[in-house]
Amino acid sequence: MYTILITNDDGIHSPGLKALKEALAPLGKVVTVAPDRDNSAISHALTMNRPLRLTKLDEDVYTLDGTPTDCVSIALGKVLDRLPDLLVSGINNGPNIGDDITYSGTVSAAIEGTMYAVSSMAVSMAGEPPLDYARADDLVRELALRVIDQGLPANTLMNVNLPADSKLQGVRITRQGRRIWKQAVQEVKDPRGRVHYWIGGGTPLLDSGKDTDVRALGEGFVSISPIHLDLTNHEGISYFRDDLQLEKLLGGADNL
Ligand code: MN
Repeated sequence: MYTILITNDDGIHSPGLKALKEALAPLGKVVTVAPDRDNSAISHALTMNRPLRLTKLDEDVYTLDGTPTDCVSIALGKVLDRLPDLLVSGINNGPNIGDDITYSGTVSAAIEGTMYAVSSMAVSMAGEPPLDYARADDLVRELALRVIDQGLPANTLMNVNLPADSKLQGVRITRQGRRIWKQAVQEVKDPRGRVHYWIGGGTPLLDSGKDTDVRALGEGFVSISPIHLDLTNHEGISYFRDDLQLEKLLGGADNL
């Protein structure tokens, strides 16, 4: 029987988390440690300026007054007595593709698991709420089984996005695309006439690359991307070294 840790960034009461638990329950023991409130767009934040309170709600169900990354950290360090066979974060209300991945608390929880060498998946769903998370059930369970049985490449998580279209027409293996939001800041006035700003909304400028997560989702396919933690642009190394000649600063690179 497998032990699977689940978390999310939408909070412990999110229907996507409930659907995830139901999808994975046939595989073994599912342990939930999730934030007590919505932490969407919290990225990989770790709470270091106050203590965290873990509350047991039920057998193998805990909530934490912290971030998704806090949840994974405390689950792996304190709640579980050994590393789980799999970590799954989601099912997020909304896609996590392209540049948005860097904001994502859902993906960041999977990043945290990957940093501890736990096979980790992030699962998100596009579309207008209320989302029918149950339609991801069979696919999520099948993916989880494959990842548990065969593992993932080192330092790599599986980022799964389901399209808004309820009829799943297929899976595409993709790379991270671009998804830049135009006019993402809205200016509004409060009842006293003061100006405030809302970040979010606007129109996404979509990526045109054929093999991207953005394109796959836009065409109604399930997108599965291998995401790794190495943020280095390896092509940039030769540019910094040879074109900008940065190693010639401060007396050269003789120590290399
Ligand atoms: Mn979210």
